[in-house]
Amino acid sequence: MLDKPRIGVFVCECGINIAGTVDCDELTEWASTIPDVALAIKNRYTCAEPGQEEIKHYIREKNLNRVVVASCTPRMHESTFRNCCADTGLNPYLFEMANIREHCSWVHSHDREGATEKAKDIIKIAVARARFLEAQEELEVPVTRAALVVGAGIAGIQTSLDLADAGYQVYLVEREPSIGGLMTHINKSFPTMD
Ligand code: SF4
Repeated sequence: MLDKPRIGVFVCECGINIAGTVDCDELTEWASTIPDVALAIKNRYTCAEPGQEEIKHYIREKNLNRVVVASCTPRMHESTFRNCCADTGLNPYLFEMANIREHCSWVHSHDREGATEKAKDIIKIAVARARFLEAQEELEVPVTRAALVVGAGIAGIQTSLDLADAGYQVYLVEREPSIGGLMTHINKSFPTMD
């Protein structure tokens, strides 16, 4: 049984990267009205030290049990914000990220109103996901450090080399009698003309 969600939504302006297009004041005010959202605030730069401290502060002060950061791609700062949660004792997997920069402000810079509405949808979806998040524990399991690469064309060969450089035992299989794939039909290749 999940505990009753108390979700904190942190809207990042990213300087003008997001705030230059999306109306972050309106977005934050709107986010505070979503059911189960206990707090919605905006930050100038959420990933900067003051932004991170604000997240930790409000997790404690408002007793938040889920956190949504509306900012950039999770590839950049998902781990940053998960660590903020963990620092307060909140399980880091009770965190969800809403990408309102790459998926919104950067691609709709000509349409402030439309971008703001889209950002609302993105946050609404993230909050919906956050409601059903459950605490996760990280486990370590033994893995076989070996890889099977099927197909010895250029992609398969390069993949095999990269894996081998990374320390994996590689098994490269090819159905044809020789390796090289389509490259074997090419006489010369640019720029080396080999
Ligand atoms: S969290 Fe992402 S969107 Fe926000 S300031 Fe940092 S880089 Fe920009």
